[in-house]
Amino acid sequence: MKIKLWGVRGSIPTPLTNEVIQDKLRSALIKARPGDLSSEESIDAFIDTLPLSLKGTYGGNTTTIEFRSDLDDLIILDCGSGLKNLGNDLMKTEFGQGKGTADIFLTHTHWDHIQGIPFFLPFFIEGNRFNFYSPLADLKERLDYQQVPTHFPITLDYMKARKEFFTIDHDDEFYLNDLKIISKRMPHPGNAYGIRIEQKDKSFVYSSDCEFNINVFDDIDSYRDIFYNADVLIFDTQYTLQESFDKFDYGHSSASIAIDIAGKFNVKQLILFHHEPEYTDEKLDNVLSNARTYLYMNSKNLGDLQVDIAYEGMEIII
Ligand SMILES: [Zn+2]
Ligand SMILES: [Zn+2]
Repeated sequence: MKIKLWGVRGSIPTPLTNEVIQDKLRSALIKARPGDLSSEESIDAFIDTLPLSLKGTYGGNTTTIEFRSDLDDLIILDCGSGLKNLGNDLMKTEFGQGKGTADIFLTHTHWDHIQGIPFFLPFFIEGNRFNFYSPLADLKERLDYQQVPTHFPITLDYMKARKEFFTIDHDDEFYLNDLKIISKRMPHPGNAYGIRIEQKDKSFVYSSDCEFNINVFDDIDSYRDIFYNADVLIFDTQYTLQESFDKFDYGHSSASIAIDIAGKFNVKQLILFHHEPEYTDEKLDNVLSNARTYLYMNSKNLGDLQVDIAYEGMEIII
């Protein structure tokens, strides 16, 4: 299995401002010694030593994930603004000739999970085939509504690729070729759906937009099937623990709750995801280091769990 993250931000696309870019440049130059800047090679080597938050960014695009099975079957998980760059990449493959096929799973239809669709070039190419799997029986209508003339000049049907919609149960288990898929309704305003993908003895879980607050935690064992023993779990950690109390019922979780759940269900790697748009790259560095401190302090109960944070372009191989 290969997973590539094309959009990791929650709620709204969040480009860097000029001021932020200048701050990064200034901080990098202050760190440099004269020898670091003496040739193009030394500059490249110096840049390599800098943390991602200084030499780049965790990313401003909203949620989009490319999943590839061991047979190279493609599943697109969510269609946020990251979908545009994924589409450009796919256009270099059979999707550019109208010969591509992919399955699509949307956690739900809040804007940050569908807003990339009007700009997804493979949808414009006749011959490409896309299968949507969703518990939402009206998914097609919801996506059509994003592209009515008052919102966007081109309708979904004008995009010539074949798009088929398959309704699954709220909590379902089914197969796509050799992949076992489990979907699970998650606590989120208007509902969202987590997905687990298994191939042979490997498992990947994507759980964006979910609020596991104290009330839900009482019923945590009902989520065992989706989380248990996952090799990799991508999980909504939009808020700090304090914010998750202040924003009770907003629909998102914190890193510490995510770590508790991952530890309880013997997950191997947890990836913090759906970053709050107000958070700078520096703040996201802190989110990760606080999460790792929490993990360390509770390591007795949490086994060998590894915690990382999502960034645009991140690739995971299971
Ligand atoms: Zn969201
Ligand atoms: Zn949402």
